[in-house]
Amino acid sequence: MPKDIKVATTVQHGKESTVHWWNETPWRMVQTNLREIDMADLDAEKFAADLEAFGATVVNLNAAGILASYQSKLPYHTVSSHLTGSSLQQILDACHKRGIRVIARCDFSKIPVAVYEQHPDWAFRKADGSIIEQNGFVQTCQNSVYQTEKVPEILRELLTTHDFDGVYCNMSGFIATDYHGGVHGFCTCDRCKAGFKAAFNMDAPLKPDMKDPVTLRYMGFQAGCGKKLRAAMNGVIKSISPEIALDKVDFLRTESHSEVDIPIWVYSASSNCRQTVGAERQMVSDNAVVDYMGFRYRECSICPEALALRQWQNVANGGSCSLYIIGRLDSHLDRSGLEPTKKVFQFHKKYTDVISGLQSGAEVLLVYKDQLGRSDAESYGWIRALTASHIPFDECRLAGLNEMLLAREKTIILADVKMLKPEQAVMLDVFAQRGGAVIVSGEAGLGRQPLDCLGVTLGIKRKGCMSSVLKVEEPEFPRCAKAPLIAFGPEFQEVVPGENTAGYMKLIPEHPFGPPEVAYFTEVTEFPGVTLHPYGAGRGILIPWNIGAFYHGEGYTNTLNVMQDVLFNLCSIPEIAPELHESVELVLSRKPGKTVLSLINASGYFANSYFKSIPMTDIKLTLPGSFEKVVALNGGHVTLDGNTVCLDRLNDFEMIVLEEQ
Ligand SMILES: [Zn+2]
Repeated sequence: MPKDIKVATTVQHGKESTVHWWNETPWRMVQTNLREIDMADLDAEKFAADLEAFGATVVNLNAAGILASYQSKLPYHTVSSHLTGSSLQQILDACHKRGIRVIARCDFSKIPVAVYEQHPDWAFRKADGSIIEQNGFVQTCQNSVYQTEKVPEILRELLTTHDFDGVYCNMSGFIATDYHGGVHGFCTCDRCKAGFKAAFNMDAPLKPDMKDPVTLRYMGFQAGCGKKLRAAMNGVIKSISPEIALDKVDFLRTESHSEVDIPIWVYSASSNCRQTVGAERQMVSDNAVVDYMGFRYRECSICPEALALRQWQNVANGGSCSLYIIGRLDSHLDRSGLEPTKKVFQFHKKYTDVISGLQSGAEVLLVYKDQLGRSDAESYGWIRALTASHIPFDECRLAGLNEMLLAREKTIILADVKMLKPEQAVMLDVFAQRGGAVIVSGEAGLGRQPLDCLGVTLGIKRKGCMSSVLKVEEPEFPRCAKAPLIAFGPEFQEVVPGENTAGYMKLIPEHPFGPPEVAYFTEVTEFPGVTLHPYGAGRGILIPWNIGAFYHGEGYTNTLNVMQDVLFNLCSIPEIAPELHESVELVLSRKPGKTVLSLINASGYFANSYFKSIPMTDIKLTLPGSFEKVVALNGGHVTLDGNTVCLDRLNDFEMIVLEEQ
């Protein structure tokens, strides 16, 4: 058994405990998404030994749902016809013997056609009444008897005959898409229609129309059904044993994946982890780094450097590792990403004592919209700007904002979060009053009425802007001095600064941009592009345009200059590493007596490819605090001069540990 694995005595089913294994186990997950053929010749001892050698402490493997990976006695739970290798319980025993926890991967989103033919009312029905079928499996409806009554029976059978340590349900909820990218709208089965009618006395919409209030009502109804179903399932599982870890309750599984034709999000793993763990890093983050290129190319690995980079982002921001492959470690044909990933797992294993118990050392919080499936250019732009500026930061959804979190932070950035609840607005005003800086961009904080701390009144909103720009001359914006005209995109909210509110920049309205002979402006208005209002001991700063979205879309220094002048000058955020290359991500973490700096070198990301990182040399990092000892854990040599750390060379990743005086 690996010596860094603490096997809790609380794993026995049915016994209450306040110490849970998932809080004590250093989380290094390998999700082996087993194809049915992988069970045919699976050798449990080899399977577990491979995981152990890789450095895994947790494995997620197929157990129930689409196919049963064990001899289920339930007539509607189809047993795989490939169970000729080791049994599921033998796999569990072999893993447990090595201290590896085992999560049961279940997927109740589909049933085999033969089961569907026995129970046609369990299927998801499209608007025309047809079903969604792919490769012999039929999509189920979340409101079907299968999901509400039979799934609990399956879970009960599985978990009372096998001692799993956790459950992960794949594709839960109303899945209206297929593997080919088809989108099928709402389920219109009889139970969905009747349920909606009973709840709201309305006919269910046949297809989504986001402008139709009935659609929004129906989406709320679906969300409610999902919540109720999950609560019932969780109740069943926890009644079997409170020591069975649940996704979304005891740990949170997210993915950093790729898909054909979908743009790469280079900070995917960092951002996922920051959202999951929070500033105190309480929740266990299982951010699965997906090996394959997309659904259609399950066998083909993405770049090895990308897989390693995402694991380093996981380690630095959430303190865990997680790899997701199709098949087993021993039979996975494309092995290009395994060694680089294993290297990160081994680093995590070696330095578990350092990594565990860390909390965020950031004092900046990025708040973004509450929305399903995040693709939010405004917050992505801020993430890029903060990362390129080497400013450590936390992230949360608007709904996650609370007093305890605010007490840790000095600067809050609201990324185009339009609708604040009155209590949220008060919380932010109080935060500014007590000395914090509140930065809002786009229409953040302007939805119902402006935040009091902003000290502005609203004018009209200009839309469809093309050539409008901002002229900046103020000394508070030194980075803009050589580029004094700032492009801002299609929308601009006019505001009038109050008596004590400073306005920076001036709006140059629409003017000709072609032919070049007439491409010049003649008018400069008084509408500011940035305002600052001193408020109590702090301040409110408004950027009344989507600076994050414009930066994420265009990526020019012109925009970054403004963001950095706001952050460093107007908010007085300390510059930790002004000379460090923008492609290096810096993460600051702390625990009693220790400050830990992680540096992730993403310079190998070029165009849309990942290559070997370009080494960075002679890095200087200046931190608040006083330190007496410094050490680098991944090959670099560090020295300490006052509160400045000098690192001789950064390859792909470094973790620097400072002992505080
Ligand atoms: Zn339905």
